[in-house]
Amino acid sequence: MSVMMNKIQQKEKMTDLMSKFISLVSYKLPDDVENKLKELSEEEDNKLAKIIYKTMFENQKLAFELKRPSCQDTGVLQFFVKCGENFPLIGQLDSILKNSVYKSTQETPLRHNSVETFDEYNTGMNIGDGSPSIFWEIEEDSDKVEIYTYMAGGGCTLPGVATVLMPGEGYEGVVKFVLDRMTSYGINACPPLLVGVGVGTSVETAAMNSKKALMRAVGSRNENENAAKMERLLEDGINAIGLGPQGLKGSKSVMGVNVVNTARHPSTIGVAVNTGCWSHRRGKITFDSNLDYEISTHEGVTL
Ligand code: SF4
Repeated sequence: MSVMMNKIQQKEKMTDLMSKFISLVSYKLPDDVENKLKELSEEEDNKLAKIIYKTMFENQKLAFELKRPSCQDTGVLQFFVKCGENFPLIGQLDSILKNSVYKSTQETPLRHNSVETFDEYNTGMNIGDGSPSIFWEIEEDSDKVEIYTYMAGGGCTLPGVATVLMPGEGYEGVVKFVLDRMTSYGINACPPLLVGVGVGTSVETAAMNSKKALMRAVGSRNENENAAKMERLLEDGINAIGLGPQGLKGSKSVMGVNVVNTARHPSTIGVAVNTGCWSHRRGKITFDSNLDYEISTHEGVTL
């Protein structure tokens, strides 16, 4: 019984901390995004673009002070979980994350964004059939859990696309695919964008890689030299469109381009694009087996 009670208390503690973390992510951008927005604003010489950046910073300041979401679209919650095989709440994590989304929805509050497909009603809880999305990796010999929390807004989700290229199209085909999408849909996603590009065998592996690319820090580089070169070339190419902040023109379009790749079938090149907007709300929290936590994306904050 005491073990049961202990588990229940642990579950309550983690639900409470996770709901506070979700709220934090909704009203405070991660450090890498804040720093990049400052850098882009300082480099910008377009007058209107400068005013828009200033408005963004004022918006961020007020969101943090008032503890209110920095964008009205608080998105659909997505979690990328790397869970140690010995983490004590591994079996409870799914329900902990769902309950923490509901708790944060009530307390922050978050906009109700979970509509049951085909039945067309909003659950009002940000929980629905298969939502929030929880993507799992299990780690051997570990008793910790790392959780990336991401708020997938409608506008920034809209440019998402995946396909499988003929092998003869090569990496030039990947670049063309990404640029075609960015020149047609990029403006919908509230630039400056973080562009995630995934490369793999099939649409689902490429799509997952492209979303994982959005979890990688702005300014980081793919460890593979050729992939890193593609990141730089795509950044230059998309910047040349001159979308500027909120798509109202400016010298830059992106905060960065991150490529994530996995080994692929020799006869296919799966490629996918996902975008993060200027209000790229993601955060990483790691819990140890005592539920002590560390937040690596937002320096100096506590829950
Ligand atoms: S794209 Fe981002 S900033 Fe724009 S409305 Fe959607 S969530 Fe908000």
